[in-house]
Amino acid sequence: MDYQRTTLAMIALTISGLLSACCCESDDLESIAEGVEEAVEEGDEESDEGTDEGADKGGSATGADEGGSATGEGRFKVRYSDPGGKKLNKYHKILKEDGVIDEIVEAVNAAIALPVDVTIKVQSGDGPLYDPQERAIYYNHEFLDEVDGLIGQHLEDMSAEDRKTFLIDVTAFVLLHEIAHALIDVLKLPVVGKEEDAADGLATIFVTELYEEGAEMALTNAELFDIEAANAGDFEEEDFWDEHSLNAQRFASIVCWVYGSDPDKHDSFLKEEIIPEETAERCPEEYAQQRKSWLQLLKPHTRPGALDL
Ligand SMILES: [Zn+2]
Repeated sequence: MDYQRTTLAMIALTISGLLSACCCESDDLESIAEGVEEAVEEGDEESDEGTDEGADKGGSATGADEGGSATGEGRFKVRYSDPGGKKLNKYHKILKEDGVIDEIVEAVNAAIALPVDVTIKVQSGDGPLYDPQERAIYYNHEFLDEVDGLIGQHLEDMSAEDRKTFLIDVTAFVLLHEIAHALIDVLKLPVVGKEEDAADGLATIFVTELYEEGAEMALTNAELFDIEAANAGDFEEEDFWDEHSLNAQRFASIVCWVYGSDPDKHDSFLKEEIIPEETAERCPEEYAQQRKSWLQLLKPHTRPGALDL
């Protein structure tokens, strides 16, 4: 499937809540605007905390009362390194040519002010991960090679074009997941529960609301977790101690949130029994809660004008 991506302006506008000049359907606009407004109202109580946190990190944020006035000069910066080998070079080429990473980074930088720079290193080696000591996200070619291998094993009928789209969608989701870790670290955002689940939540919210076909992009990742779960075989005890939820659980959560983001649009999930009915009932609330919490946490760190509703 060829995913029609929304413009960069649309992405930035959606993140920041500046919704008036946007190009998506009016219903979507209304619901996003309501969500931001709700978050703004309910976020006022936490405004002082936001101010202090920003000041500690170099005065980047000025509090929720004047929401959208953060002026930190830190940014996400992307650095591509050539893998220097034919096998991995194709992934380097896909990422550079598609521009998915640059697009996401530009949109996030347009909306959120960081107190310090965070470098995104697209290279061969370890990853994907966020290293708080180095303030760097590592997104590695080997990971895409591994995903490509899983597609080959499990989705062998997929066309070359769809395979490329799969890799790009996985990149968007995984990068946003790592960006969530970086935001939690440099903005000192509080997290209740597992940080890994929170990062999956933000990645799902971002892709679902930023991209026209975002739901499919999030589902691509859910599918990947499903494949990995099927590959895993029997569980070892250490699996239950891992900081990540089990792949099968990550699959279920993402499917639930995507469904919850728009139950009417995704009613096929119920018809095709992708999601059990009793689970589906709680998903809209779960998604709304996640979305509201993230918007509230990010609000004191948004750039000037970002929340002028
Ligand atoms: Zn993570």
